[in-house]
This record gives sequence, C-alpha cells and structure tokens, in this order.
Amino acid sequence: MKPRVQALILDRDGTLIAHVPYLADPAQVRILPGVREGLQVAIAAGVKLFLHSNQSGVGRGFFTMAEVEACNRRMVELLDLGAAPFARMCVAPERPDEPSLYRKPSPVFAREIAAEFGFPLDALCYIGDRGSDLATAARAGTRGAGMATGGDDLAAELAAAGLSRAYPIFDRFDAAISAVLS
Ligand SMILES: [Mg+2]
Repeated sequence: MKPRVQALILDRDGTLIAHVPYLADPAQVRILPGVREGLQVAIAAGVKLFLHSNQSGVGRGFFTMAEVEACNRRMVELLDLGAAPFARMCVAPERPDEPSLYRKPSPVFAREIAAEFGFPLDALCYIGDRGSDLATAARAGTRGAGMATGGDDLAAELAAAGLSRAYPIFDRFDAAISAVLS
C-alpha cells in the first residue's frame, strides 16, 4: 500500500497559472480556476507544496531569472495563501539542448525533497500539464496527475510516452487535488 501524499510538486505554467508563452510580465499572471481552492485543501491536510518550473526562456536569453521571480511573486500574491505557501521553488533555466541539472524530466529536485524532508518518493506527487511533468514523476518514482488546462494535448503526449495508465488527467486543479489526496 502506498503512503499518503505528503508533498505536491507543482508545475507553474498551464497548471497553477494560465499558460502565456515565455511569460515575463507579472501583469499577465492569471490564476487558473480551482487552483486556490485546491491548494487550500492541500495545506489544510498538512501537505507541503513545492514549485518546479522549466523556464528555458532564461537560457535562451528571452528574459532574466529576476523576471521569472517577479512573476512567481505575483502568483503568490494572487494566490493569497500567505507569504510563503511553497516550501521550495525550483526554477530550471536551461535550454533543452544544454546539459541540465533541474530541467524536467530531471528527477534531481524530487530526490532532494525526499532526502531533505524524509519523505518516501511515492509520498510525493507531481501535478503538471505536460508530458515532461509526468515523465519526471516516472523517472523519480513519484506519483503524478495531469492537468488538461495547459492547451497542449496531454493525453496524446502521455499515450506516446506509454504513461496513460499511470497518470489520470483532470480538467480542474481542485478535482486533481481531491483525487490525489483521497
Ligand atoms: Mg506547464
């Protein structure tokens, strides 16, 4: 039997906030429906929250890490769940074609969380809108749930990666949280 979920590792764009290609302007940050409600449920259940976001726009020179952090601060402000709802926020700035440490599907961040907080890997759960989010879950040995809120065809991506059976896909974030925590 699996342990209960003790931490969520959350994607940002297309999962918590509306996907804007190469978002760099805090004024364009929009929280998706059900996200605040879902996170409140998770926090009330004692589940720790982590953010893991690929931001290749930094590596490509489109924008700076400071701009990413400004967007993250705006997201936290709009979520209105306290000053620091995330125990750790991991932004991977690498381009897809360069060696990466944290860029998803790297399992490094999940392993660090498991080691630092003493959680078994299968007590962690990735939630994201892309195949790379759930490929990370598969590589790290965590649980995972997909969001259909990012605009890409996640179902087709998961099918192509042979991951359809492993990870359910949800239309609203709070529905994903209910399923993951049940
Ligand atoms: Mg995403």
